[in-house]
Formats: sequence, C-alpha cells, structure tokens
Amino acid sequence: MIDQYGRTIDYLRISVTDRCNLRCKYCMPDGIESVPMQQILTFEEIRTVAQAAAANGIRHIKLTGGEPLVRKGLPGLVRILKSIDGIDKVTLTTNGVLLGLFLPELIEAGLDAVNISLDTTDRRTYKEITGSDELGTVLSSLHIAQELGMRVKVNAVSLDLGDDNIRSLIAIAKENPIDVRFIEMMPIGYGRNYETVNHRDLYRKLETMYSGIMIDEREHGFGPAVYYKIPGYRGSIGLISAIHGKFCGTCNRVRLTSQGYLKTCLCFSDGVDLRAILRESAEGTDVDKALRDAIREAVMHKPGEHCFDKPEEITEEAGMNAIGG
Ligand code: SAM
Ligand code: SF4
Repeated sequence: MIDQYGRTIDYLRISVTDRCNLRCKYCMPDGIESVPMQQILTFEEIRTVAQAAAANGIRHIKLTGGEPLVRKGLPGLVRILKSIDGIDKVTLTTNGVLLGLFLPELIEAGLDAVNISLDTTDRRTYKEITGSDELGTVLSSLHIAQELGMRVKVNAVSLDLGDDNIRSLIAIAKENPIDVRFIEMMPIGYGRNYETVNHRDLYRKLETMYSGIMIDEREHGFGPAVYYKIPGYRGSIGLISAIHGKFCGTCNRVRLTSQGYLKTCLCFSDGVDLRAILRESAEGTDVDKALRDAIREAVMHKPGEHCFDKPEEITEEAGMNAIGG
C-alpha cells in the first residue's frame, strides 16, 4: 500500500494480548486492568485481518503485546500467519521470560526472528524496572535462542541508567552476533512519566566509549534503526531515535491492537475499528472485501508525522501494553 505521502506500508505489528507477566514501570505498572478476553481478537479473526492486509501488500508481521507468549497457543498463530499468501516474514518481540520454553515450537512453526526487550543486565535494576526477578531466565532464553540458531536482537529503552549499564548491554554484541538497539522513550501511556535519553547525546557518549565506532550501512531489518559497528564486535549497535531523529518520512508500518483497532500512527488515535467489521457487519456483507477497503482507506489517511515534540497534540490514550510498541 502506498499512502498519501508516497510511503510504502508493508509492515504490520499485531498485538495479540494486552496482558503481561512483567510490570515494566513505563509500560504496564501494577494495577492496570486487562480487557476481557471476549474483546480480544481470536486467532481466526487475526488470520482474517492478516489475509486482508496481505492482499493489500503487507509482507512482514511482528507479533507483540502485552507479552505475546502469555497468549495460549502462540506458535499456532505463527504457523497460521506464515501460511498466508504474501506474508514473507513473521517475527516476535518478547520480554524473553517464556521464550526459552516456547522456542522449539516457535521455530517449528516458522518464526523468522525474535527481539528480546532487555533494559539492563543488572539484577537489582531489572527487578526495579519490571517488578520481577527474571533476569536470569531472560538471559538463559537469549542463550537458548543463540544455540537454536534463531536470529535475535536485543532492544533496550533508553532510560538514564548510567554508563556501566550501556557497557554491559553493548557487551552482548561483542561475543555474539546479536544487534543491541537502544530505543528513545516515547511519551505514550506511562512512558509520559519518564524522560528519554537524547540519542544525539548517547551517540556522542558511544564515540568516547568505543574508539573506531562507525556507521554500519548493511541492511539489518525493516525498521528505522540507524546501525553502528564497533571494531571487533560481532553484533551491531542500533539507535531508534523517534524523538531526536524523527524518521516519519520513511515510516512503513501500521499497528493492530489486541482489540482489533488498526492504528496508523503511534501518536494519534487515527485508524479504523476492524473488530466492528469482523463482528458487526450486516448479513450478506463481503467481510474480506470490507476489511481490505477499510485497511486501504485508513492507510491512505495515515498521519504524515508524529507530534511527540508537541505533547498537547497527542491524541493516543492507550498504553503501550495495548498498542504493542
Ligand atoms: N512484552 C513485549 C516486549 O517487552 O518486547 C512486547 C510488548 S512491549 C510494549 C514492546 C516494546 O515496547 C518493548 O521493547 C518495550 O520496552 C517498548 N516500550 C514500552 N513502552 C515504551 C515507550 N513509552 N517508549 C518506547 N518504547 C516502549
Ligand atoms: Fe510487559 Fe513488554 Fe510492557 Fe514490559 S514492555 S510490561 S514486558 S508488555
């Protein structure tokens, strides 16, 4: 699909649940209510939406949440999505706690790659951020993924946790062919309560910490990260700088919330309620066609750019656990 600004939209993030087994303070702190399961799309409904999206030109699907692996039967959904004509890659973003357990099934189902969200390798800080003492389990999942040959990236939200934290995360890329990416904190949901590290400052810091760091022009995926190489490191370092390095001009994505709302930009509530089309269409409606038309129409009106620099213009009220990041 080409939107009104000439951008090709071929990437769909699907949030399969708003529930999570962690309580990251900037995403889903304690006390957040989950929506009843009946309001969440079934796998069959997700298949129907994904088929319509693929018919419109979506090629890559990322499964997210909440924590996607707390949704029962997720490998089955991977298998369903991989079998859809036109879908090239199905990948997953996870906090990693259940990943080790499900990886063999996920690989069998055809999963192409995994992003593991990990903001720190310090046990106490990890517990402070996530509310859980699961760092060891996540590191073990990372290890299992490596052993089983799964492509892995590590994603860390840029909280100001000090230089040692940066060093220890980047050390993961030294020994392993794993890209470590830093993501500027966005003022969405509980993220509004935290200030992001400015990635221009972070890059200046990396230049002093790692001599010889240089831009890495190789293709690393479908996203907006800018990559750097450190001599002698097996993985690259990625900076995803939504606030201080706006990349809206090349945005290629839309998002399906767990309740079936197709969101066209993180910043705004713009989009279309696909669940209503799935569940409330009049008898005799060609639902597949209605979905294809609604998706195309929403994409055509995708906002040109986000407004994180003008927080008063943000209209999105949902939390990241509902949107999926
Ligand atoms: N539970 C999974 C995980 O943690 O990867 C998938 C869902 S989570 C919402 C997806 C990503 O969004 C995570 O990497 C998380 O750190 C990131 N995230 C959450 N809130 C954010 C915010 N306000 N700004 C930037 N990234 C955020
Ligand atoms: Fe859960 Fe991921 Fe949000 Fe953390 S960032 S609370 S792991 S959904």
